[in-house]
Order: sequence, then C-alpha cells, then structure tokens
Amino acid sequence: MQGYNKYYPPEYDGKSSLNKLAGKHSLGNRARKLNQHILIVRFELPFDIWCEKCNSHIAQGTRYNAEKKKVGAYYTTPIFSFRMKCHLCPNYLEIQTDPQKTEYKVTSGARRKITEFDGDKIGAIKVDSILHASNKADDADSRDPFAGVEKTLEKTKHMRASHQRITELYQHTNQRWADPYEKNQILRRLFRNEKKSKDAKLSANDSMEWRIAKVAQHKKRHANGPTTDNR
Ligand SMILES: [Zn+2]
Repeated sequence: MQGYNKYYPPEYDGKSSLNKLAGKHSLGNRARKLNQHILIVRFELPFDIWCEKCNSHIAQGTRYNAEKKKVGAYYTTPIFSFRMKCHLCPNYLEIQTDPQKTEYKVTSGARRKITEFDGDKIGAIKVDSILHASNKADDADSRDPFAGVEKTLEKTKHMRASHQRITELYQHTNQRWADPYEKNQILRRLFRNEKKSKDAKLSANDSMEWRIAKVAQHKKRHANGPTTDNR
C-alpha cells in the first residue's frame, strides 16, 4: 500500500522514502503507465463533441480519466495528447493541445461541435477594426511630416491651456483651505446660531399650545358650572 500517514513500519531503514519501501509511486495508481511515458489525469472536455462511433453528443465539461503524454513540440512548448474512452461506447477519443493557436484540437474518435454566432447581432465590439483604424491614423501621420508637426503644436497649445487651469485651481484650493481651524470655527458658529433660533421657535410654540389648552379648560369648566348648580 502507498504510504500516506506518519506511521513508519519497524522494517523502515530511515534512508529511502515510505513509497519506495511499499514499492509505489508517489502519484499512486495514476502513474501505473509511466514506463510508457503516460500519466493518467482528470481531463475536462473544453468544447462539445460528437463521438464518431456511437454518434452521441458529449457536452463541454464532461470529465474523463485521460492518458496524458507528450507527442511533440511547437518550438519549445510541448504538445500533449489526452486519450480517453467514450463513456457511452468502447470508442477511444483523442484530443491534443495546439500551442500555435492556443487551443485544443480533436485528433481522432470524435468531431468538434463548432458554435458560431454573429457578433453584429449581439452588439459585440470588434477589437480588430478599432486597432486597424488607430493603426491607419498613425500610418497617415508618419507618412506626412507636416501633419506630425501640426499635431505637436496642437498638443503644446493644449498643454499650456491645461497648465494655466491647473494653477488656477491649485491657488483657489490653497486660498479656501489655508486655515482649517478658522473655517471650522466659522461653521460651528453658524450652526450654533441656527440651533438657537430653532430652539427659541420651538419653545414659543410650546407656550402658545399651553395657553390655548388652558383657555379651553377654563371654557369647559365655565360651561359645566350652571348644570352642577341646578342639581
Ligand atoms: Zn461513443
């Protein structure tokens, strides 16, 4: 059995690893074909495919235990192939990495489902066209030296104008926030005065209400007076 915890058997000599003692690879059963340079990995389908034998549709994201091996190289980047058995029939599927196009390609046993959509219909922005347009403008400038000079003059003018505006804004800020303590005092004084006048109004209202209530009470008592007398 593969060693996986801290138990060291009495026959362990302390020189090699526990895996070596058990005669196992550290990657376990997945490394059983390493002598053929094959490692077994979990592979997830990067796109929808159709199996060529059972003709069934297999969805993107379906996972297989695939045999991964190096089959070549694109410059210095290795090309890997993943070979797995279709889960619906005995057919074998093979998918390879394609470093040149930075994608996967089906090499045998299946067909890739090509999903196409119209970019204009969903309102996608075409990066190519934007790059093309900006490159075109740059090309025109580089061909005409006068256009380049005009552009530089315009840029200088714009820079001067913005420099002036920035200086103004800077001075304005400095003037307003030269003494924050004083500004704070002014603000607090304003708030205090406002609060005082508000409080005065409220207390005036209260006393008016109190007087109205008293008058009403008095009137009521006066109206009830004769009835108690006639009893
Ligand atoms: Zn199949």
